[in-house]
Amino acid sequence: MSASLATVAYIGAIILFILSLGGLSSPESSRRGNLYGMIGMTIAVLATVFGPRVTMAGIPWIIGAMVVGGSIGLYAARKVKMTQMPELVALMHSLVGLSACLVGFANYIDPMVALNLSSAEKSIEEVEVYLGILIGAVTFSGSLIAFGKLSGKIGGKPLLLPGRHLLNLLGLLAVFAFGWQFLHAASISAGMIGLTAMTVIALLFGIHMVMAIGGADMPVVVSMLNSYSGWAAAATGFMLNNDLLIVTGALVGSSGAILSYIMCRAMNRNFISVIAGGFGSGVGKPAKKADGDAQPAGEVVAINAVETAELLREAKSVIIVPGYGMAVAQAQHTVYEITKLLREKGVNVRFGIHPVAGRMPGHMNVLLAEARVPYDIVMEMDELNADFPDTDVSIVIGANDIVNPAAQEDPTSPIAGMPVLEVWRAKTSIMMKRSMATGYAGVDNPLFYKENNRMLFGDAKKMLDEVLVALKS
Ligand code: NDP
Repeated sequence: MSASLATVAYIGAIILFILSLGGLSSPESSRRGNLYGMIGMTIAVLATVFGPRVTMAGIPWIIGAMVVGGSIGLYAARKVKMTQMPELVALMHSLVGLSACLVGFANYIDPMVALNLSSAEKSIEEVEVYLGILIGAVTFSGSLIAFGKLSGKIGGKPLLLPGRHLLNLLGLLAVFAFGWQFLHAASISAGMIGLTAMTVIALLFGIHMVMAIGGADMPVVVSMLNSYSGWAAAATGFMLNNDLLIVTGALVGSSGAILSYIMCRAMNRNFISVIAGGFGSGVGKPAKKADGDAQPAGEVVAINAVETAELLREAKSVIIVPGYGMAVAQAQHTVYEITKLLREKGVNVRFGIHPVAGRMPGHMNVLLAEARVPYDIVMEMDELNADFPDTDVSIVIGANDIVNPAAQEDPTSPIAGMPVLEVWRAKTSIMMKRSMATGYAGVDNPLFYKENNRMLFGDAKKMLDEVLVALKS
């Protein structure tokens, strides 16, 4: 393939990537967005493999690597459960970071790279290598820790080392000092000292940064690492002089940064305080009993599936709030069966989606779209919160943190200030979950004890199946 044809293919791929991002911004167009992305990526890979910079001798190596990588990817994609998607995404981000590091080291030690460069070009190349490895290493280790936290292999409790801000500052100063040494090194082996030392610091910083993040801030960290992986890819593009990789990396980096901003707004947090860490204390501990002033007061009233069906049958308007537990139980199809049945009876049924519900951005939208719930009844938190007082029944399916009134009512709560879906303002709220355990942020939920709240204990799928049978009878 000639250089000009490869350039045209690259421009075509870039346009498709931009259209893909545009498509992914709404559930209606997301399938089309995915398709554009897949076509764009196929064109990009073909134009790179058969482009002017790859020799014939290299092609079998590339195809071999693609077969191995593609088979692992295909196996993982088929095997992974929907609830494991966030962990898989974190793992993928770590691979982008790792490749940026490997390309950086390979570029630096390859004598051919520096051969035709002027001294100014060589300095620019070295800065690219240094920054590429720096971003790549933080992304790699940070994403591995995020994978551990999301999969429950590492606890969600923030690790708050004494003097952690000072440690980070010292690390940053050391990165500058080693950068100076690297750029002024007389030989490749001397430069490797600064480069390796910086890589170790960046790896430790990535670990420390994500370990310090509390459970409730994980959504921001996931999207932030997504953004970092984009910048790592862009840095790789600079090292390889590949314009497509630079543009694609910048697209991922900036869209991830915008997503992080949206997530921060959803949590009512600012980005710096998220990075500083410590918000939300852990995962899934049992709620405290209502025996003290500072603790939720009131009675927990349990109901069964038949009573739930009765409440739904009598309702004129229902708001369903899904959360992580719906994904665990894979209850979305039964939820839709119930929705259809209620709508046929003239009940106004709508879904309320919190921006951080589940374990990845858009998690609930994906599940509801899979179950074919019409998009026009799936509303965002801001669109729906004012409607709860006029709602007969709000039904919370496996959600917890996103409906926790403590965020509004208790200024000392670790999630104080986080916007939540105000389900307790409906005439009756029904909370479906298996136990009295807390959600991901590890914060007690006073909703359990509200006078108009009922608890429907059990696995969401099993209980909804029973509600469906009762509704049909
Ligand atoms: P939560 O984790 O707060 O609560 C989920 C609830 O579901 C649990 O309390 C659990 O209670 C219940 N549950 C689990 N399995 C089942 C089941 N099979 N049947 C019925 N219930 C079940 O989820 P939310 O969606 O409310 O909130 C999301 C949380 O995750 C927030 O804290 C957010 O910050 C965090 N997060 C979000 C990310 C994102 O990008 N969206 C990424 C990372 C973290 P029980 O065990 O009693 O059944």
